Amino acid sequence: MSQMDIGVIGMAVMGSNLALNMADHGFKVAAYNRTAEITKTVIEKNTHENMRGFYNLPEFLGSLQRPRKVMLMIKAGKPVDLLIEELLPQLNNGDIIIDGGNSFFQDTIRRFNYLKEKGINYFGVGISGGEKGARFGPSIMPGGSKEIYPHIQSILEAISAHVDNEPCCTYIGENGAGHYVKMVHNGIEYADMQLISETYLLLRHVGGYDNKKIAEIFNDWNQGELHSYLIGITADIFAEDDTAGGQIIDKIVDSAGQKGTGRWTSIEALKQGIDISMITAACNTRVLSNLRAERKLAQQQIDTPVYKKELDNDFIEAVRKSLYAAKIIAYAQGFSLYRSAGKEYNWQLDYGKIAAIFRAGCIIQAEFLSKITKAYSQNKNLENLMFDKFFMENINNNQSDLRKIICTAVNTGLPVPAFSNALQYIDAHRSPQIGANLIQAQRDYFGAHTFERVDKGGVFHHEWSEHYKK
Ligand code: NAP
Repeated sequence: MSQMDIGVIGMAVMGSNLALNMADHGFKVAAYNRTAEITKTVIEKNTHENMRGFYNLPEFLGSLQRPRKVMLMIKAGKPVDLLIEELLPQLNNGDIIIDGGNSFFQDTIRRFNYLKEKGINYFGVGISGGEKGARFGPSIMPGGSKEIYPHIQSILEAISAHVDNEPCCTYIGENGAGHYVKMVHNGIEYADMQLISETYLLLRHVGGYDNKKIAEIFNDWNQGELHSYLIGITADIFAEDDTAGGQIIDKIVDSAGQKGTGRWTSIEALKQGIDISMITAACNTRVLSNLRAERKLAQQQIDTPVYKKELDNDFIEAVRKSLYAAKIIAYAQGFSLYRSAGKEYNWQLDYGKIAAIFRAGCIIQAEFLSKITKAYSQNKNLENLMFDKFFMENINNNQSDLRKIICTAVNTGLPVPAFSNALQYIDAHRSPQIGANLIQAQRDYFGAHTFERVDKGGVFHHEWSEHYKK
């Protein structure tokens, strides 16, 4: 009998928790995994009246109400294409495939178009929040056909995180829009984490504070305008003791991994000509962190700057204010990319709603996001988040601290690429001259690329007096 509301394929961490979350909300869930043993284990461990395990695909599909809703929670990439091919002959016109994995948005656009021709509806749904989010309420970013969305809306909204009774799930746009928004969310997450990491370096190596004190500082900051999931867990991390003595943070190798969504975001921004230097800096820092042998050699050979640190009494507050100002720039960059992508891919992105669904369930959840929603509700055509009155006041109030902190880090020899790129971005926008006139002159000199003049309209080429001989 076709009675199940939705089927979930992929019973690994994300799929099993999402399926249980759906079952908790009263939806009848069919669960299936390529390796049957995994389904069995999940079902045995989590007996639930609304969840049933299936051990072959035809029975699984046969159990679903029409139009069938099949959610894929499997490894992104080739496995998704393989599974789609396996499902296709067994699906009917109007059935809906929902890819909830971290698929690359261009793959989602391709699959959306391919399946549309075959009469199958395809949704690319960004899901953020990891294991806990999947189980108790993630932030959900659905992309696909707007007419079909109501078929899956109630399930996705019910299982998402909620803030003030509002679901952290909103229809994002056509085809790959949901996965795009998730990708950039992850990019912003990279920048946010990098900034917090640089803050740690400053507190530790300039401030001279120990882990317990740093935990206190982050805890304190988490009570104010910096309140966020990442600041909260950072406080926990510094307070965490190691059974072998000291704190765990000091036992972890200084080398970070990445799965690629930050890199995808950077590549995409370069393609679109959007400056997201802080996200790129965060990716590059993870890359550099892995060059452990080279870093060791450099530590032996490059002199450490000698600098007498003069700590102001307000050092901690200066770092906090710098972090807030730089965080504004990280989000301004990420949302500039959304703005550009909306035009590039013809998506009607609602930036305010995007910020609103990040308020809970996801890794970048923060107090701060409601300020972004407010900024776009006051002006939905805002060119850049920096120009919102609230954010601009913060940049102006905090920029002297940001400069001071970066100077101290530079003089001490501490790498602070995310902080530095935030300031570069501010200065590149603010400075009346950024040297591009010389670039244009050089381009015109060697390539007759022409230039515009400040004193009259039109496009000009100058016959340069070529004194220089190569
Ligand atoms: P995963 O480790 O990414 O993938 C494992 C699952 O994929 C297993 O169920 C596996 O089945 C299945 N699979 C692999 N190749 C397959 C194929 N060719 N055909 C059918 N099934 C195949 O699982 P996950 O960590 O739960 O993540 C699921 C998706 O959510 C991924 O796209 C991931 O990027 C995304 N995501 C993860 C997180 C997170 O925090 N983990 C957060 C957000 C989004 P077998 O058991 O048979 O091998």
